[in-house]
Amino acid sequence: MTEVSTTRPARRNAQSASRADAGQAAVSAVRAFNVVVSRVERVSSNFRRITFGGACLTDFGVQGSTLDLRIKVMIPPAGGECADLGALMDGSGSGWYQQWLSLDASERGDMRTYTVRDSRCDQPTPELDVDFVMHFDSDGKGGPASQWAASAEPGDRVWLIGPNIHAATCSTAGAYGGIEWRPGLAQNVLLAGDETAVPAISAILESLPADISGHAFLEVPDGSDCQDIQTRSNVGISWLVRGGRPHGELLDAAVRQAVRVPGWVSLAAPFRVSLGSDTPSGQALAAAARAGGPERAAGPEPEDIDIDKTILWETPQLLDAAALDGSLNPDKPSGALPFYAWIAGEAAVVRGLRRYLVRDVGIDRKQVAFMGYWRQGKAEG
Ligand SMILES: Cc1cc2nc3c(=O)[nH]c(=O)nc-3n(C[C@H](O)[C@H](O)[C@H](O)COP(=O)(O)OP(=O)(O)OC[C@H]3O[C@@H](n4cnc5c(N)ncnc54)[C@H](O)[C@@H]3O)c2cc1C
Repeated sequence: MTEVSTTRPARRNAQSASRADAGQAAVSAVRAFNVVVSRVERVSSNFRRITFGGACLTDFGVQGSTLDLRIKVMIPPAGGECADLGALMDGSGSGWYQQWLSLDASERGDMRTYTVRDSRCDQPTPELDVDFVMHFDSDGKGGPASQWAASAEPGDRVWLIGPNIHAATCSTAGAYGGIEWRPGLAQNVLLAGDETAVPAISAILESLPADISGHAFLEVPDGSDCQDIQTRSNVGISWLVRGGRPHGELLDAAVRQAVRVPGWVSLAAPFRVSLGSDTPSGQALAAAARAGGPERAAGPEPEDIDIDKTILWETPQLLDAAALDGSLNPDKPSGALPFYAWIAGEAAVVRGLRRYLVRDVGIDRKQVAFMGYWRQGKAEG
């Protein structure tokens, strides 16, 4: 997933279109941005928002809303600075990644994937926000990205790799590899994710028009992590507070309760999940999960994915591409279906939901984007 891209909220379309039009030459769709931390905000117990600024961000972006746009954050090596990614990308074209990998560890740092929570790159002071989950083990040790974000201060510098607004190929969101939210004509949607997907789900919900309905489930560690998300859509929003439960238990149960067998096309009426970590609704959800699925499979068994060896990343657009090259039978084109689901989070949890939705409920895989955002016990990379 070294490709990246974004879009800008609808209200800024005219501005971003003119920024894009200004440079329609054949330039790389992806570039490196040397940015400075301009603000740090504690959003909640487990989220830290880092605002990045810098004149170079004038060139960052895509058209339309940013949705679930992913970028790479190059985490500097401890006590040092990252290599000059700008020079590496300018000099080596698409071979920059191999060149970066070949650098000495003391210079290379770590590359991690994050979502653009909000982008204001068309403003006189261009900025973008990234919400970092603060995850630490019982010894207080986190991965390089969470460690870096926990101690980041205004003035710190990092490299981001993201979409170049001037690239000719950036004229539609469909040209990017960095945005997966593609509901097509679907008006009934399901969004489900853990805390790492909260920035993406929030940005998607903020962009949805009023004629979209459905439900969004967000599992977070703590009651204080539930955020106020504005949406014009009729998508109900349920925050699932994990407390001491296993990761994904509540998310899995909530999706199973909302997308039932039979009659999955219309999601169950939105239900409120209390914010307390040990509430009756939480217990009811967990009990529903333990009750298991239907006895007979309604759809094909999806091929197993070894999440220890490979990234779980299955999206309608990838399946469309597979159909085009003959490795998958083309049936209905993905964008023409009435229901669309977007599921991201810990890979084993996403894999379980994939099996439930595809095999037990019988939902066409071309209606669901399944994305393992991280793997328990495995560092990214
Ligand atoms: C497309 C995409 C978008 C993403 N957007 C965001 C985002 O906006 N905000 C965000 O915070 N994350 C996001 N993530 C997830 C993030 O990339 C991973 O959590 C990443 O592993 C964090 O890097 P790290 O250096 O902190 O930990 P790593 O060095 O990768 O991992 C170290 C250890 O921490 C564990 N770990 C990693 N993440 C978590 C976690 N969240 N909770 C508990 N344990 C964890 C790993 O299993 C490993 O054992 C996104 C991932 C993808 C693929």
